[in-house]
Amino acid sequence: MEVFALTRIIYGLVDMQSFFASCEVASRPEYAKREELDSETDPLLAVAGDPERRSGIVLAATATAKQRGVTTAMTLGEALRLVPDLVVVRPQMGFYLHVSTCIQAIVQQYFPLQEQFSIDESFFAFPYPSVLFPDPVGAAQNLRQKIWDMFKIRCRIGLADNKWLAKMANKLAKSNPDGIVWLQKEDISRRIHPLPVEEMWGVRKRAKVLRETFHCDTIGDVASVPVGSLKQQFGVWGDVIWRWANGQDHSPINPNSTEAPHKGYSHRTTLPRDFDTKADIAVVMLELLDEVCYRVRRAGQKGRRVGLALTYGGFSGGFYRAKTLDFCSNQPVDLYPVLLSLLDKWWHGEPVRAVSISLDMLQKSESIQLSLIEDRGKRDVLARTIDDIHDTYGETSLFRAVSLTNAGQLLDRSQKIGGHSKGDM
Ligand SMILES: [Mg+2]
Repeated sequence: MEVFALTRIIYGLVDMQSFFASCEVASRPEYAKREELDSETDPLLAVAGDPERRSGIVLAATATAKQRGVTTAMTLGEALRLVPDLVVVRPQMGFYLHVSTCIQAIVQQYFPLQEQFSIDESFFAFPYPSVLFPDPVGAAQNLRQKIWDMFKIRCRIGLADNKWLAKMANKLAKSNPDGIVWLQKEDISRRIHPLPVEEMWGVRKRAKVLRETFHCDTIGDVASVPVGSLKQQFGVWGDVIWRWANGQDHSPINPNSTEAPHKGYSHRTTLPRDFDTKADIAVVMLELLDEVCYRVRRAGQKGRRVGLALTYGGFSGGFYRAKTLDFCSNQPVDLYPVLLSLLDKWWHGEPVRAVSISLDMLQKSESIQLSLIEDRGKRDVLARTIDDIHDTYGETSLFRAVSLTNAGQLLDRSQKIGGHSKGDM
């Protein structure tokens, strides 16, 4: 009988560098002579929300522009002060989505067990040692070279024993010239634990609490806090944070993550300035809810769980809270009061820079909801009529009057896709 070496699973995270900016550079013939994966010959280029307005925000910048101090979320005015010869282009979200889909397909060819994590990141996993994957770093190098050859886009790849460590390995790959880091078990204490607590991926604003309340300067400090104390402070998150700090993560690869839109619908918008009154935030919430409900109705569905996510100014934190109802709906009149109560309960006056509304736990809308209180049939007909008007004459042909207030984003958003200008589709 042949005995095989014990096989374990290696997790990887591949992340495109400066994705939007890289797509732009790659698509412009004037930059076609960039031939080497590892040379730094990129032009000084940034993608900005609205190149005509210096108050617009930088969405992405090439590595060379970043070296000169340009960062994402900086205003265009600031970026141009640092780099007066910066080439500024308008985002083309449709184009980036298309490139993203093509790259995901390549990742999947190299690593069949793959999960899209964001527009420019995906997780993958493979058995090691195995006949197909005898050399993890070599496999990662092949993928990185392939993405460069086909798209002229650079990526970084982190490899480790679980998803959280792969994400951290990917961060470490930033300072590795070949863009790949394979983090081994013994590297946790040497390379992860000394990092500042703010570098701990996924904990977001909780890092501040870890530093201030638990006096943790590093991830290693978090690892030695008793798990019970963390649970007392953060609830179930306490357990997750403790496990991450100790290099543990049991979350699986979810190959169906891209099917998530079918499981629920959401809309998010970044605001042109911080909103700090409940009335203003509520206007944007209603606009987004209208869009979500429209899509859910058009899909012939209704949802039972409605969610609100707010991102604070400086993209420094925020929250997501959802409420599961005891009925299904695709009507703002049912769902808006629930969202307002979430806002009342969880928002404490922080300046808000982005709003997201979601509706999930869907079911087919033919399944009849019995209501003793009111006639839902008439409301459905009204909603369908409004949807038909929107389909025929456009979404700005009929809208709520609040969208004409200063807080309203609908008219601006109607020009955009994913919060950015539509560009080439
Ligand atoms: Mg990226």
